[in-house]
Amino acid sequence: MINVTRSSMPDFDEYCDEIKELWDSHWLTNMGKKHKQLEASLEKFLDCPHVVLHTNGHLALENVIAAMNFQKGGEVITTPFTFVSTTHAIVRNNLVPVFCDINPEDFTIDVSKIEKLITKKTVAIIPVHVYGKICDVEAIEAIAKKHNLKVIYDAAHAFAVKYKSVSAVNFGDASMLSFHATKVFNTIEGGAVCCHDDDLVTTLNNLKNFGFHGPESVTYIGGNAKMSEFQAAMGICNLRHLREEIAKRKKVVERYNERLVSISGIRIAGPQKNVESNFAYYPVIFDGFKKTRDEVFAELCAEGITARKYFYPITNNFECYRDYPTAKPDKTPVARYLGDRVLTLPLYADLALNDVDRICNIILR
Ligand SMILES: *Cc1c(COP(=O)(O)O)cnc(C)c1O
Repeated sequence: MINVTRSSMPDFDEYCDEIKELWDSHWLTNMGKKHKQLEASLEKFLDCPHVVLHTNGHLALENVIAAMNFQKGGEVITTPFTFVSTTHAIVRNNLVPVFCDINPEDFTIDVSKIEKLITKKTVAIIPVHVYGKICDVEAIEAIAKKHNLKVIYDAAHAFAVKYKSVSAVNFGDASMLSFHATKVFNTIEGGAVCCHDDDLVTTLNNLKNFGFHGPESVTYIGGNAKMSEFQAAMGICNLRHLREEIAKRKKVVERYNERLVSISGIRIAGPQKNVESNFAYYPVIFDGFKKTRDEVFAELCAEGITARKYFYPITNNFECYRDYPTAKPDKTPVARYLGDRVLTLPLYADLALNDVDRICNIILR
């Protein structure tokens, strides 16, 4: 059995050492010592002034959108070629997602199509660095400046990615990271907002803790999105090994490339210019191949290998958005076309190269 992903974990003893103090302190959550330590380590590692930890990436995204205090009913330009979380976070904040198509080269938002979607109601752009591919951040910044819009990146896939030597989390007004068990860096469940703005940090810290500003002062109608000490301890351990993990992922990706890049009917998005990758995902487009994506998926399943139709359906085609006035998959034909043909192959640090060969042999057969 090979799964599409396998969570990175430190040695059992390393984690036990890390959590031992918690039995002395009895301090399990509410911004304890591990929480503070992980925030500081991540700020250094990601070269970002503020990393605000959350219990998962989704609530981090919901909170950063809430913190911007947009007018109810405001429109947010975003991509449908993403995990449902991106779209849900917009809608759950009483905002309207306006779906922009993606470019077929790297699957990120097509910046040439953003301006046509801007109306008087537009308040923000929420693009996604999908599969760790960096959006055209310069073009997005120019559009946002011209139209006075906020930019929040869903950077859930872009941990440790750099563009022109700048950490990916430093673009836009804020970026969200996910530290879910399936991501390149995990805290079991976890996430963060990365930003440069001190006031935004205060708001986020209040919002993630019921709106408490002080022991007797509640300034926001906040929820609960705090990261526990056990999650933070996992993060502290995993961060120690992250460089090796990424190096191992790179080897897996190189092997897939050797086997698949030149095959007719199979398209692999190549490396982006000026981008230092984290090798988070291996998406393959089956377009004109002897078998369809669904047939390849089924053949792999039959051999005990789980690939993932990631992202299918695209988010503007989910049942919950069927009756939504702006969710028209016909209006994002490139995203729909690729969503019907993409398969994300198994990729994790400890995936053996002979297993990669086995997966490729099944596909090629
Ligand atoms: C994982 C993911 C999220 C949600 O993060 P969680 O930590 O699982 O809540 C949001 N957006 C994208 C693109 C993701 O892949």
